[in-house]
Formats: sequence, C-alpha cells, structure tokens
Amino acid sequence: MAGIKGVWVCFVACLAAVGMLLPAGGRLAAPPLPCCDRKAFMNSLESELHYVFGDTLPATGATLEVAPGVRWLRMGLPFALNHINLWLLADEETAADGSVRHGWTIVDCGIANDATRAACEQVFENELQGLPVLRVIVTHCHPDHVGLAHWLCNRWQAPLLMTAGEYAFARMMSAGLPGADGPAMLPHFRQHGLTDPEMILQLDGRRNYYPSLVPAVPIAFLRLEETRSLQIGGHAWRVMTGTGHSIEHAALYCETLGVMISGDMVLPRISTNTSVFAVEPESDAVGSFLDSLEKFLPLPEDTLILPSHGKPFRGLHRRIAQLQAHHVERLAEVRQACTTAPRSAADIVPLMFPRALDAHQLSFAMGEALAHLHRLWYAGELVRSTGEDGVIRFSLA
Ligand SMILES: [Zn+2]
Repeated sequence: MAGIKGVWVCFVACLAAVGMLLPAGGRLAAPPLPCCDRKAFMNSLESELHYVFGDTLPATGATLEVAPGVRWLRMGLPFALNHINLWLLADEETAADGSVRHGWTIVDCGIANDATRAACEQVFENELQGLPVLRVIVTHCHPDHVGLAHWLCNRWQAPLLMTAGEYAFARMMSAGLPGADGPAMLPHFRQHGLTDPEMILQLDGRRNYYPSLVPAVPIAFLRLEETRSLQIGGHAWRVMTGTGHSIEHAALYCETLGVMISGDMVLPRISTNTSVFAVEPESDAVGSFLDSLEKFLPLPEDTLILPSHGKPFRGLHRRIAQLQAHHVERLAEVRQACTTAPRSAADIVPLMFPRALDAHQLSFAMGEALAHLHRLWYAGELVRSTGEDGVIRFSLA
C-alpha cells in the first residue's frame, strides 16, 4: 500500500513529537495543542475498546502494576496532550562472575525539564525497591519519548537502546542540523502553498523547539532491530518496527505476558500523526503507517496494549480497524476536494481541519494534509505538478 516506502520522518524541530497525534475522529490534536475543542475530536468509537484498569491512573511519582513485572507510570507534559506513559520492566543482568544483578528497564523518558526529573526521582525513591535502572529503551525520537534519556542514562550509568533510525534522528534534531531544524520547514511549506505571512513568521519563531525539549542525546546507543528480541526479566520481548509516524519506531511485544508496548503506533483515543516534512519531502507517511499497522494484526486480539498516551486497553484489531477507517475517510475527503480543481496542501488544510489553527497546529495540519495527498498520488489517483508560482498542486489523474 505504501507505494514508495516512504519512511517519512516526523522530525522537524518545531513539529516534534508531542504534538504529532491526531484524534481518531479525524481532527488535529497536536501538542502543545491547545486544541480548543478536544472532546469533539476524540475517537467516537472508543467505547468499543476495553480499558482494563478503568479510569485508574498512577499518581505522579507512583506506579501501577499492569502485568507481572510491568509497571505503568505517567509523566506530565506542558502541552494540551498533558501526559506520556512510561513503563518499568523488572529486569536483571548477569555479571562476568556469574552473579545476577536485579534492576529495572525503563521504556521512554518524558521531556527534559525539572518537573519530569523530580517525578522520576520520586519513582526511584519509592517504586524501584532499592534497585537500579539497568537499561533505558526509547521507542522513537520525539521529545516526550527521548527528551530525558541523556539524564536517565547518566543518572544510572545505563545504556540507551533505540533503533538506528530513531537514534540518528534524535541526534540530528537535537543538534539542529540544517534540514532537520525548524527553519527547514518554511521553504517546504511555502512550496506546498503556505503564504500567510503571519503564520510564516510564527513558524519561523519555533526554530529551536526540538533542542529546547531534547538538549542532549547519549553519545552512544545499543541498537534495537526488528529481527532481534530482547530478554527482559526472563521474558523475550520482540522488537516490532513501524514507520509513518517516525523513521523507525520500535514497539515491544511479549508473547508470554500477552503485552505490547505500542509507543505512538497504536493509541486508543487519538490517531497517530502521519506527516510529510522537509527532510523527506516525497514520503508516503499515510501508506507507511497503514502498512505498519498490518504488522500488528497477527498478534492476539486480547493482547494488553500499553500505549504512550491514554490508558492500557484490549481490542487491538478493533483499534486497527478504526484507524484504517479514519484514514479511508480522510482520503475520501481529499480525493473529493481534488475533483473540482488542482489543490495544494495548504488548500486541503481548511477542509481537513475546519477551524482556526495556531502555528504549531498548522505545521501538523500541513504535514498531515500533504501525507494524504501523497497517499493518493502514490496510488495513482492524483498527479502532482508544480505551477508557475512554484507551488505544488495535485489533481485527478
Ligand atoms: Zn511520536
């Protein structure tokens, strides 16, 4: 389905992670997304999913056991998407002399700020049973996931485990390298029809967004790969990579526990953002994401899904079907819009997101609109051409 396998990348500093998620009802819920009307954009079919722990949430600095040796904690985020879930897995390592050292592996980190560090210290004090953190696993490069990795790895002298793609992008964006920085977005969006000078000015003001949330990334990493599984606390966890939301997102599946840590790839309440940004301007993010979702279909329907946002749930296949339907609907809207005239991504934004957007929301909306245009382009339903004004537009093939 993906046509060219557009392992697109959601990276751009200003667009980073925290806001790269859309409510499954189909509307923008990007972060610092002051989404004015979030309720209206929630997954309207959320009741089809089973929230195993109801409305119970772990308190700040505390954890909740969700499976044997698997503990859930939440870290606050200074955005409308106000939290991220992290996971502690009981772990152990064997030293050269054969002695076993018990401890924990932590999955994902929160952003790098004082509040997150303080909440982490609380967890370390109260919830680790006096044991150390042995490993830090990060699902992908977005700031709410990788922001505090540098501090955590230093704090515990623990290694960082990521896929090579995610690690490289985190390093690239944290360093603000040209093309992977905020300013790279402006010519890209201009080429796709964005002309509003006020918005351009606002977007330009967000050039340091990613480094402000991820000031540093560990200088070395251990690679997570699709073909390898990890032994964590006596259980095998399979790495399942996915694209369309980030370059090489790692979800973790443990068959014996019947648990998947899904990161941002499968979320119960909001749909994962799939955007085309400047660093990979011809990507097929929607196609890549839909392809990636299919990799999860062989897992049992009653797998306990531990998402990065929202609450643990069962109903994996149902949720995948909801997400597929969501994109089918969005694609139909975009296709319809292109039947009457050639459309740029900027033309599509108000159709897909019919409300006022601030600069941050607009960046995700542009990325998402373009991703849906590209899906239809790769499917052969639309053609893409550049006008005399330099703007790229799409029309029926
Ligand atoms: Zn993300």
